[in-house]
Amino acid sequence: MIISSHVGAGAFVGMAARKPGPALALGFLSHLVMDAMPHWGTGPGTEPEWLPIARRDGVAGLAEMALLTAVAPADRRVGVFAGMVGACLPDTDKVGRYFVGSSPWPARFDRFHEAIQNEARHRLPREVATAAALTVAGALTLRLLAARSH
Ligand SMILES: [Zn+2]
Repeated sequence: MIISSHVGAGAFVGMAARKPGPALALGFLSHLVMDAMPHWGTGPGTEPEWLPIARRDGVAGLAEMALLTAVAPADRRVGVFAGMVGACLPDTDKVGRYFVGSSPWPARFDRFHEAIQNEARHRLPREVATAAALTVAGALTLRLLAARSH
């Protein structure tokens, strides 16, 4: 699943959990739940195919994190950020393999993470739409929460 979708879901987890510790843990869990749902992917050993998309997705995901952190009300900001970070953590296996040649996770966890994927090549447009919708809904919800706390 693209990281932008995980970031959007992680923001909602962080809004609900509020405290950074639980937000981080539940964000991590949300990643695994979302990876088990139907999403875009090209399967193992297809790096040349997904890497250009992953690069754009990484930049979009960082921008999304910055936006959602910025619009979060002060009393929820750390929780929202922790939820988003937790939701991204499982995919540091890809970042680790790309930059330093190995995943930071135990091999057993990486095998589990790979085994739960429900991927298909034709789902990219739907997934981009999901990520965009989660970003907009997350930003609006955070603005509403901020307005209510004044
Ligand atoms: Zn994943």
